[in-house]
Amino acid sequence: MIKDKILVVEDDAGIRKFLQATLSANDYQVILASDGKTALSLASSHCPVCILLDLGLPDLDGNEIIRQLRLWTTIPIIVISARTTEDDKAEALDLGADDYLTKPFGTVELLARIRTAIRHTRTTAENQEISLNDSYTIGGLVVDFRKHRVLVDGRDVNLTPNEFRIVSLLAIHAGRVLTYKFMLHELWGPTASSDNKILRVHMANIRRKLEPNPDEPVYLHTETGVGYRMADHEDFLQNK
Ligand code: CA
Repeated sequence: MIKDKILVVEDDAGIRKFLQATLSANDYQVILASDGKTALSLASSHCPVCILLDLGLPDLDGNEIIRQLRLWTTIPIIVISARTTEDDKAEALDLGADDYLTKPFGTVELLARIRTAIRHTRTTAENQEISLNDSYTIGGLVVDFRKHRVLVDGRDVNLTPNEFRIVSLLAIHAGRVLTYKFMLHELWGPTASSDNKILRVHMANIRRKLEPNPDEPVYLHTETGVGYRMADHEDFLQNK
């Protein structure tokens, strides 16, 4: 099972330990940072599905971290902080944080906020179906976001974690062309190479696994020189 990765940025060892234990027990993979610089580098190298961010860190101010992350990513950021004024909260949200939890908070509330934040990123998709079912279905293809798998005609096509992330990204934006640059940034962060070769290699493997005929793809279309597009319902109406 491929687990959703969460980056926890917190300099208080006790809270860090609590978050790690709670999240691991709930099937998340946890990555830890105790200062801002480490947080920024781990965010770009791991591209987690959600970031829990303490605002009071030894090296960088939490708001500065939000600002820097938002230069390249829409990964949901949940601020966890003892600062409680509405101004603090508004500032963090204005800078692009998605939610705000005031310390101390309980496990149930924490998990609910994380699920909501993750679901929101998956519904910016304009795709109601994804928010309702946590999956995207087109023709015989099903992208199951909850179980992290892709089925074709009912059969699990066994994607690798990277292949699954590529297919998910395209499915979330189904019907829209995603540029190589956008995809490289979303998948591998700002330090990603601008070389499209890695994407092309992954796409060739993905197509072999899920297209009935990889030379004439029906699910994953190439926009030559631009990027890729996941088929949406309109493609299938036209084909019939
Ligand atoms: Ca702190």
